[in-house]
Amino acid sequence: MYYLKCKSCGHLNEVKSEYLIFCSNCNKKLENNYSDWIKRNSEKTFDDWKQLFCTTETTTPTNETSTPKKIKGLKYWIGFAVAFAIFYAIGQLGGEKIAEVFRKPAFDKALMKTASEINKSCPIMVDNATRLDNAVALPDNVFQYNYTLISTNIDSVNVDDVKNYLEPTITNFVKTSPDMKEMRDNNVTVNYSYKDKAGVFLFTISVKPEQYKDGN
Ligand SMILES: [Zn+2]
Repeated sequence: MYYLKCKSCGHLNEVKSEYLIFCSNCNKKLENNYSDWIKRNSEKTFDDWKQLFCTTETTTPTNETSTPKKIKGLKYWIGFAVAFAIFYAIGQLGGEKIAEVFRKPAFDKALMKTASEINKSCPIMVDNATRLDNAVALPDNVFQYNYTLISTNIDSVNVDDVKNYLEPTITNFVKTSPDMKEMRDNNVTVNYSYKDKAGVFLFTISVKPEQYKDGN
């Protein structure tokens, strides 16, 4: 057993743990207590500290053994070994797939963040006939823009004509716009959903990775 001598009262404090900070006799803070010392000497160990500041001389022998501490230490190492083995196994068995699983939620979050950024400025007119109402991140890596054609009534137009007119422009935009690079790099399906001026659903143009990866 090691003892740390109190500079105030001379009491020899038993060093039972690393957390001996106050003298058990006079309650003053012990100079050279381990907690403070290790902050200044982070490369050193508890044993180094005991060698430097403690004494083994004693008039009150103790029958306490160090067995409980050893068991705790062993458990720690077993725990560490198991954690390391699992980590190692993950690395060995299909690390790519698992990395994918870890990466995916991060990108889903990025998509949601993009949507909420866009929504801060919505609704907004993107041309004199089209209003962007909002954007939304959907499951399965789908990002959707919701538009309203403000002067269009479903009964007065041929929906297929409008869709066929818009589709090549939109597909080309997703395929080539620098603003869409992030979407392309992450294989996002980009939806453009349209409603008429009364809020009646018209059509959705869906641009999938296989369309914009075409010819790349
Ligand atoms: Zn003291």
